[in-house]
Amino acid sequence: MTSTDIASDTELAAGGPVIAHLAPNIPRRFYRGGERIFAFRSAATPGDFDGRRPEDWLGSTARLFAEGGGGVTTLADGTELPDALAADPVGWLGAAHAARFGGDPNLLTKLLDSGERLPVHSHPSRDFAKAHLDCDHGKTEAWIVLAAEPGATVWVGFRDELGEDELAELVDAQDERLLEACNPISVSAGDAVLVPAGQPHAIGEGVLVLELQEPTDFSVMLEHERFGLELDHAFLGLDRPLALRSVDHGPLSAERIASLRTRWADVEGQGPALPDEGSEYFRAEVVRPVGAPVTVDAAYAVVVAVAGRGAIDSAQGSLAVAAGDVLLVPHAAGPLTVSGDVTLIRCMPPAP
Ligand SMILES: [Zn+2]
Repeated sequence: MTSTDIASDTELAAGGPVIAHLAPNIPRRFYRGGERIFAFRSAATPGDFDGRRPEDWLGSTARLFAEGGGGVTTLADGTELPDALAADPVGWLGAAHAARFGGDPNLLTKLLDSGERLPVHSHPSRDFAKAHLDCDHGKTEAWIVLAAEPGATVWVGFRDELGEDELAELVDAQDERLLEACNPISVSAGDAVLVPAGQPHAIGEGVLVLELQEPTDFSVMLEHERFGLELDHAFLGLDRPLALRSVDHGPLSAERIASLRTRWADVEGQGPALPDEGSEYFRAEVVRPVGAPVTVDAAYAVVVAVAGRGAIDSAQGSLAVAAGDVLLVPHAAGPLTVSGDVTLIRCMPPAP
């Protein structure tokens, strides 16, 4: 450690963490997209934009599993977020969270703009990740739809039960039958969908989602050939039959799908953006003052302003916010009072 490192650590400990605006953090990925993110963030499209910057990783402590790493959030003073959290877990995450999880926020939040349909893939559960990937996190995820082209579709779960051989055969074939085996779900702005770990899924073209995930980048890429993905990465470096055992073979019924859906846009005042069963993995809360300001409890949160403009008042002062802003809020900022014609979504770790 250099003397400069010691000085900045001391400053962090003395001053405590403060609410920070997060600039776009857009690692290159294998699929197309990104224009809707730059538009939403009111950010200029970079000169070197190659059409494959479809994700903005918000308050990220996770690194890409493949595709050259990257993804970790760097704060304005140059500190990488994992180092900042480790230096003051109580200030950032609160005493209860820090006592249970240390400096790990247990959360990955992204904006995702599907410039093309994404491949059918799935993510392992916690149990599978513990047993085979040396990691305590699996990856349940949720999509909060911010914008969608007319007729936009996502797919979740297999329509019918697939035997082990049937699934292996579909993965071998690498044709349209994999997508056809999944349940199509029409989505529009204001929808939210919880995707339990293990369920195969895909996002269709033309959807901007705010995505919450357990903080890993483990994916089983059931469709990989048309996206030019390497087989090693497609199956997490595991034997294929073992990797396919992490996939839920179905069926995912219509009743079950209904229980995984909500309309976040219907919330007035303060309320959950996602079905309750997701709260074991992460929480998302809509804050929309209607008539009167809304005060929310202290919490570590990635706060995304999804519509309108307003203000956030806290012990740390008053901040103007407008649609497209993303704030990283430490627990130490205390309660927030939100006012104005603004809609915020607070993305938070599971309750400690
Ligand atoms: Zn996924």
